[in-house]
Amino acid sequence: RAHLDRIEDTDGDIHAFLHVNRDALDVAADIDRRRAAGDPLGPLAGVPLAVKDVLVTTDMPSTSGSRILEGYMSPYDATVVARARAAGLVPLGKTNMDEFAMGSSTEHSAYGPTRNPWDLDRIPGGSGGGSAAAVAAFQAPLALGSDTGGSIRQPAHVTGTVGLKPTYGAVSRYGAIALASSLDQVGPVTRTVLDAGLLHDVIGGHDPHDSTSLPDRWPSFAAAAREGASGEVLRGLKVGVIRELGDDGFQAGVSASFRAALATLEAHGAEIVEVSAPHFEYGVAAYYLILPAEASSNLAKFDSVRFGLRVDVAGGTVEDVMAATREAGFGDEVKRRIILGTYALSAGYYDAYYGSAQKVRTLIQRDFAEAFARVDVIATPSAPTTAFRLGEQLDDPMQMYLNDVTTIPANLAGVPGISIPSGLADEDGLPVGIQFLAPAREDARLYRVGAALE
Ligand code: GLN
Repeated sequence: RAHLDRIEDTDGDIHAFLHVNRDALDVAADIDRRRAAGDPLGPLAGVPLAVKDVLVTTDMPSTSGSRILEGYMSPYDATVVARARAAGLVPLGKTNMDEFAMGSSTEHSAYGPTRNPWDLDRIPGGSGGGSAAAVAAFQAPLALGSDTGGSIRQPAHVTGTVGLKPTYGAVSRYGAIALASSLDQVGPVTRTVLDAGLLHDVIGGHDPHDSTSLPDRWPSFAAAAREGASGEVLRGLKVGVIRELGDDGFQAGVSASFRAALATLEAHGAEIVEVSAPHFEYGVAAYYLILPAEASSNLAKFDSVRFGLRVDVAGGTVEDVMAATREAGFGDEVKRRIILGTYALSAGYYDAYYGSAQKVRTLIQRDFAEAFARVDVIATPSAPTTAFRLGEQLDDPMQMYLNDVTTIPANLAGVPGISIPSGLADEDGLPVGIQFLAPAREDARLYRVGAALE
């Protein structure tokens, strides 16, 4: 009730939600009954959960922020949503996002932007700005996001929340409307590292419905967060700092907050080690070929027949109807990426663009392998600037893409990354995050280190 009231009071300004679950109180009452009947519910039973609209749900529409899916009702729940329900979490609603998760500001939503609770003239990050804003504004204690190039971590950075992108394959993508299938991962957005661990424990683990799901048995991430809380893990921890990521392109307050966090780590016994990752700087370029290539293929299914919107054309052919539907149903950024992707994949250009980008991806994976042979985690600022103003980057796609410079390499390499708050920038008083990256499958390490610094 408190969360529904809070949404009622604040969401007119923030617009974190595309849909609020009117049945939430009934679901909560049902969980009380299950508890009374002795159902072994987990530690999050009864806790409300905001769900990014990229995740399909049977009881609420799933639009992925797009007109082409307006009002779409899924016949099944995403695995992460099904697991959350089974554990007794209460879905509070569906959160706003850039259309099909393309963007860093939530301004590309077909349903209007979300605003940053810290300053309503500023963006909440993207694509999962709705989930991060809901958690930052105390509309929801926990949220689910998806991260293809930073859409969990960058919104966490600009809203002072915690966001974690798991190892690729650690959390099921079944029922997450695909953006780029080789990069997408679902993960938690919360106010504390322990909360993220508790939610990750519920949603993670093998899922036979996702062919890229890892068969691994995972440790408890909540337990890892609790282990880390005393700070003891920092003693002797080797923290890598990437030589090639200088202060260039980073807002002064972001760099200052990063250096202060490194000093805190050192003061608690960590060793800061410079590592080289010479191919990181090509990450954005490679990503913005690989992502549009995969997205153009994934979005081909919105053909006016199988899902969502259909714009009829009197006397038109199937192609005419398809073209009219996609013209009306997709926004500018989605069309831009479909054009980029189909171009990069076309015969004659494939090797020059898509093929080269895949080679860069391999080089970035090697950079990580070499760095992680010397250090336990790598630290970077989570993003180059604090929350920028609405409209500031909307007409400049290149500028918008550069927001992802520190987050993209983890997706390209499949390694896990966490963003935790590291204070406020001196010049504007807005939140800043620090990102930690770990080798694949070492998600628990991020919970330990994150909880220690928190
Ligand atoms: N900003 C990135 C993009 O626009 C992030 C996408 C994501 O992680 N979903 O592609």
